[in-house]
Amino acid sequence: MGTWLCVKECGACCNLDPTDRPDLDQYLSPEELELYLSMVGEGGWCVNFDHIKRECRIYEDRPRFCRVEADVFADLYGVESEELNEFAIECCRQQIEGVYGDRSLEMIRFNREVGI
Ligand code: SF4
Ligand code: SF4
Repeated sequence: MGTWLCVKECGACCNLDPTDRPDLDQYLSPEELELYLSMVGEGGWCVNFDHIKRECRIYEDRPRFCRVEADVFADLYGVESEELNEFAIECCRQQIEGVYGDRSLEMIRFNREVGI
């Protein structure tokens, strides 16, 4: 099944285009939804995403909904901690496919580093 990790130089989940995530209001609070929408920049990319380094400029202070952590996933998506690994891998794969493509270098790198 592999072991989830966030691979370097990806950033697929930092494309926040709301049209790709029509159910945002089902798991974000009104305040979080407002924050989320305020972060959407050109092409749907988060305004905090550094496209050169391909990393978050505010990583230590990133919002709760950006964090792959057991309590966050339990709260937002109802995912039990024992399901977190598989769920997070699938989330990343969906996001990478949507942003970069199923055969992209990002997908190849993710699969390799995660071990699937
Ligand atoms: S999609 Fe997954 S691997 Fe890519 S930046 Fe986001 S958390 Fe990391
Ligand atoms: S705040 Fe950081 S981690 Fe969250 S979407 Fe923006 S760039 Fe990505």
